[in-house]
Amino acid sequence: MPIATVNPATGETVETFAPYDAAALEQRLGLAAETYRSWRTTSFEERAALLKRAADLLDAEREEIARTMTVEMGKPVVAARAEVAKCAKAMRWYADRAPELLADEHPSEADVADSGGASVHVRYRPIGVVLAVMPWNFPLWQVVRFAAPALMAGNVGLLKHASNVPRTALALERVLLEAGFPQGCFQTLLIGSAAVEGVVRDARVAAVTLTGSELAGRSVASIAGDEVKKSVLELGGSDPFLVLPSADLAGAVQWAVTARTQNNGQSCIAAKRFIVHAEVYEAFTRAFTDRMKALKVGDPLAEETEIGPLATSQGRADLEELVDDAVAAGAVAECGGARPDGLPKELDGGWYYLPTVLTGITPKMRIHHEEAFGPVATVYRVESLDEAIELANDTPFGLSSNVWTTDPEEQERCARDIEAGGVFFNGMTASHPAFPFGGVKRSGYGRELSGHGIREFCNITTVWRG
Ligand code: NAP
Repeated sequence: MPIATVNPATGETVETFAPYDAAALEQRLGLAAETYRSWRTTSFEERAALLKRAADLLDAEREEIARTMTVEMGKPVVAARAEVAKCAKAMRWYADRAPELLADEHPSEADVADSGGASVHVRYRPIGVVLAVMPWNFPLWQVVRFAAPALMAGNVGLLKHASNVPRTALALERVLLEAGFPQGCFQTLLIGSAAVEGVVRDARVAAVTLTGSELAGRSVASIAGDEVKKSVLELGGSDPFLVLPSADLAGAVQWAVTARTQNNGQSCIAAKRFIVHAEVYEAFTRAFTDRMKALKVGDPLAEETEIGPLATSQGRADLEELVDDAVAAGAVAECGGARPDGLPKELDGGWYYLPTVLTGITPKMRIHHEEAFGPVATVYRVESLDEAIELANDTPFGLSSNVWTTDPEEQERCARDIEAGGVFFNGMTASHPAFPFGGVKRSGYGRELSGHGIREFCNITTVWRG
């Protein structure tokens, strides 16, 4: 895949970038290792001051960076602005909280005495140069949620961003430099995925985090494993959204639409499978379909657009294949299931797809097991909570989940039994700097955000004094 900005709204190639050659890559790896030697000894105060300045710069440049993202990957510009603001917030959160999240831990006096020591503490030291391999769907947020904690912990970062978002990658590198971070603290590597193996194997790189598809995750994690290097994987999801009889149905419908279609349906934590109790199935499905049908599809730079194009032509082709496979096997498209008609002429070359609701899904259909990365919802009818939970878990993924019920016992059952890294009641899954984010099963391992996220890339050191 060439490294290029291609506008998904029109299909037009806006700018292409030459990948770094071996010498340019070597220069950046060397600089990262060199910078780490001094950066690791800086204080939390110094790091926090720089990160807060970067947050201020993001706020000041919100409009420009939002438009850069929209032109590269097609998210509605209103959502792009919110993404930039969320990144500034996460930077400030880690700037303020890192000292307490990484404070020394002191074991009990009894344990210290039992160890024969005079004093013992646990210290969170940085680990070194960390490579981040990142996807295009939240092109700023995915990177900031890695970079903010990594930099506060005293690590330095290398970013291999998705090949279709080079401008966003370079914009973040520039913002961090302008904020005053030393050159080499955070560098974008304009390289293709084939060059990732060499970087992971490089002795100067200590660890790797990857957010993306299972295929990419499996490849990078096996190379890291071969090198005995720490890895964190944030992979795909096919989150369930359960609607049970006690639910506020109007609220459930409204949030179901947002949860499925945010970011043009291309979110790992989007609700993708809607599992609805028979008592409310007809009412939910009718209202949900009506709202999905009413969404405004169009130019993502227009303020009123709710659904823009898919980010790549291949992404749309993959989604179409999944829907066509289901319909050929007997699924019913309650709405959508096709490309839109009647968009303005200048959007002819864009990769649009209509919001789609599918019913009549069976386990024989690919979409039952695979991730639909676009505005396509599958709706299932169940007769009981047991059946709903069984279906929720009938997936290779385990990222997050959403449950609409006001019954405390049902909530407890779901919090206990749904196999996922999150269970969100009467709302939708969202990430927040204070709460751990990550999955189980094929959705990956390790956590980002919160104290758990910042400690993933630390050398947890026992300091024992006799
Ligand atoms: P992708 O194709 O896996 O790409 C992600 C990143 O990995 C890109 O930088 C890509 O580079 C690189 N890459 C791809 N194949 C690679 C390989 N064999 N070796 C090394 N690097 C490789 O995923 P995507 O299509 O951009 O993103 C969609 C997927 O990401 C979905 O499955 C989604 O659910 C998942 N995702 C998960 C989370 C989470 O937090 N769990 C968040 C967002 C997205 P190139 O662009 O150069 O190929």
